Amino acid sequence: MMHHFRYLNDELYCEDVPVQQICEKVGTPVFIYSRGTLERHFRIFEEPFSSLDHLVCYSMKACSNLAILRTFANLGSGIDIVSGGELFRALKAGVDASRIVYSGVGKKASEMDEALTSGILMFNVESEEELALLDQRATSLGRKAPIALRVNPDVDPLTHPYISTGLKNNKFGIDVERSLNLYRKAKEMTGIEVVGVDCHIGSQLTELSPFLEATDRLKNLIGTLRFEGLEVRYLDIGGGLGIPYDEEAPPLPSAYGEAIVGRVRDLDLKLILEPGRLLVGNAGILITRVLYQKQGSEKTFVIVDAAMNDLIRPSLYKAHHSVWKVYRNAADAPEGRVIADLVGPICESGDFLAQSRDMDAVRSGDLLALMSAGAYGFSMSSNYNSRPKAAEVLVDGGNYWIIRERETYEDLIRGEHIPPDIFQTS
Ligand SMILES: *Cc1c(COP(=O)(O)O)cnc(C)c1O
Repeated sequence: MMHHFRYLNDELYCEDVPVQQICEKVGTPVFIYSRGTLERHFRIFEEPFSSLDHLVCYSMKACSNLAILRTFANLGSGIDIVSGGELFRALKAGVDASRIVYSGVGKKASEMDEALTSGILMFNVESEEELALLDQRATSLGRKAPIALRVNPDVDPLTHPYISTGLKNNKFGIDVERSLNLYRKAKEMTGIEVVGVDCHIGSQLTELSPFLEATDRLKNLIGTLRFEGLEVRYLDIGGGLGIPYDEEAPPLPSAYGEAIVGRVRDLDLKLILEPGRLLVGNAGILITRVLYQKQGSEKTFVIVDAAMNDLIRPSLYKAHHSVWKVYRNAADAPEGRVIADLVGPICESGDFLAQSRDMDAVRSGDLLALMSAGAYGFSMSSNYNSRPKAAEVLVDGGNYWIIRERETYEDLIRGEHIPPDIFQTS
């Protein structure tokens, strides 16, 4: 999908702001998001569903900054959360609880209570024990928990094993056959109100067929449930539509939308969608500065100031991020190309951002952009090696705002204590 990162006179801009200008002010590494791109992606994704009763719930674990949440909420988005912390963030961003769905295999009692008291739209329940606990918590709070069961439709999403979730051997969801029994039990529970059916089969899907297969299985289940007198008001088909990082050509959101709409149009229910990566992935980049270049006996290493703690996707999934120079074709730039590993300062061989990458020659001080870093970038970042987390910046036309300050050393030790016995020196 189109984004607003482009070259003007061989200098990289985000919308109308030179990337270099942001780096001078904020330093590196820094995540830069484009508001125009976020909004464009949301509109393009939602458009095909306009003829249908629907709610897009942005899956916020992809990028959970308050400003990003608010950007989507302003467009009418709901939010898909997977923890109490995400509920807290979503409410802080001003998202209406009635537009929040809560997914995840390991909801704690305290998190259930928080979601129940705020009055969220729906819990996507993933096991029998979870359902029993939710019934108990809701009953003791004098409430009814609106639920869908997250059904595991057992379709192969044809994606990386770490991000496929809808197969029988995954920890997610409940088998279709088992779910039927559990729905029957749920119907009798005083603290539970059955309102929907849910699934989410995986992430970064580049084919349509798994989505359609899953939807068909859920349609069958909905038919059975309705026959048994259960009211199914919501069908939540999760997220997972892929984006182009490299050569892959995932279906366009329009094709995805039209195919789904065709499948569910006659069902008389509200469709819920939980896109994450698709909305934010290509709307964010990570800028890093080259520290050193080092010639090994077999490989060339370009050592940069961002690392796996900032962007773990290459280490975790062998994910590809394109590398763009912030200044290309500069008159004084080194000539030619290199094949290099782009690595960070972290003490792990797995700390790389790109491997054997054919790229323009670089030198110390150059700024590089890791493209498509908006999803599962900052939100998966950590403080490993006691590295403060990067700053986050949101660009809007010719303006930009720091939406998360770079962490300080003091942030690193917040909440740590040395017990008096250990503190004492003899
Ligand atoms: C992660 C997740 C999503 C979003 O997945 P994307 O691939 O980012 O679209 C949606 N629903 C659930 C339950 C998830 O866990």
